[in-house]
Amino acid sequence: ITSFRHKKVLVLGLARSGVKAAELLHELGAFVTVNDKKSFDENPAAQGLLEEGITVITGSHPTEMLDEGFELVVKNPGIPYENQMIQKALTLNIPIITEVELAYLISEAQIVGVTGTNGKTTTTTLINEMLNRSKTALLAGNIGFPASGVAMEAKAEDIITMELSSFQLMGIETFRPHIAVIVNIYEAHLDYHGSRQGYVAAKLRIFENQQADDFLVVNWNQPELRELVTAAKSRIVPFSTKEVVEAGAYVLDGNLMFKGEIIGRQADIVLPGEHNLENVLAAICVAKLEGESNENIMAVLSSFNGVEHRTQFIKTLAGRRFYNDSKATNIISTESALKGFKEPVVLLAGGLDRGNEFDDLKPFFKNVRAVVLFGETKHKIARVATEAGVEHIKIVTDVEEAVPVAYTCSEPGDVILLSPACASWDQVPSFEVRGDLFIKAVNAL
Ligand code: ADP
Repeated sequence: ITSFRHKKVLVLGLARSGVKAAELLHELGAFVTVNDKKSFDENPAAQGLLEEGITVITGSHPTEMLDEGFELVVKNPGIPYENQMIQKALTLNIPIITEVELAYLISEAQIVGVTGTNGKTTTTTLINEMLNRSKTALLAGNIGFPASGVAMEAKAEDIITMELSSFQLMGIETFRPHIAVIVNIYEAHLDYHGSRQGYVAAKLRIFENQQADDFLVVNWNQPELRELVTAAKSRIVPFSTKEVVEAGAYVLDGNLMFKGEIIGRQADIVLPGEHNLENVLAAICVAKLEGESNENIMAVLSSFNGVEHRTQFIKTLAGRRFYNDSKATNIISTESALKGFKEPVVLLAGGLDRGNEFDDLKPFFKNVRAVVLFGETKHKIARVATEAGVEHIKIVTDVEEAVPVAYTCSEPGDVILLSPACASWDQVPSFEVRGDLFIKAVNAL
């Protein structure tokens, strides 16, 4: 455990995790300054921090403040490295970490870290539920529990199950999860990381500090990943939905297997789709490494019906089933969601334009009856839907307007699915808000 007593620390970015980091560094005796580009009034937590005795600088990033002898910068994962404060801190050789590194530095609890392009939240939640059957496991990360806050609460004998984005992994130094999980790696977030290499490299950092007594759980379906993890010092535990991998988790004759042992029946899994099978197998690897019983593992798999906004079933109305997959912020996610349904689908999609095209969706539009499109990318997706021969293509303003239009294009037996293939930030502040708007509109039909 590192001491932060009397250290002069700058916390950059006042989102939820920044606030938590500032508070706990203050509690640990550091001299804390927080800085956010937004104004004081736009930062709901600013007043509280000020009252606790933390220095609060808002409204801009005044780089000259870095000349005041800061020893550490804790940055919000969303702030790009091109930011002028970060650039200056780099020239001054001030260590820059994210809140995840901080969490690691202050905690004695064992850490299970989960990264990947898609399936992080589902896998992290599954693992946490399984481990919680016989131990104390604490959920941390993007799911809404800032890692540093969880680390502060955790006892030495607890396990922290941590969801890690590539943004967070870019800011680690010594972070060493006892078990690391890479669910998969696809191209995404290219606007932030600049290139595929940068994005992949950030994810691979999850194992850079692991040692021979640690474990690395890896998706063996991806040949490229197999190659990349040969650099790890930790013990590799593969999982595959496509072949028997004796050293890890797989499916054989309808059974879920781990190292030759039957864990339970595949048919007992509630979560739909091949992509969720990946998440399930990854979770089984971790649970077995932690000594969890097969009964406990299957108890979770036979009851867990998904995390909110992830192909979440909402209701049936006049024979149509509504699903909220607002978390699908990239093409791969929407592909997985579409693959999961045999019925005709009315798809609601569109959102922030990251500069990519949507041609990869074309083969998955086979059983799409209609698309109802909104947001910056609506015309791009419309072009692909036209080329794929989709029967009805409707352009609307936003997700709320899309719901009644989708209903009029549907027939009994159809699935009406919000799976936007895009982030929400062009119109609404988060995928959660977008999902909630969808649910509200569905309930108003
Ligand atoms: P993340 O936290 O990585 O964004 P989630 O578990 O929240 O992942 O799932 C987000 C969406 O991605 C889901 O709604 C689903 O459509 C899709 N998805 C989930 N798991 C996988 C997977 N293993 N492979 C591909 N797509 C997936």
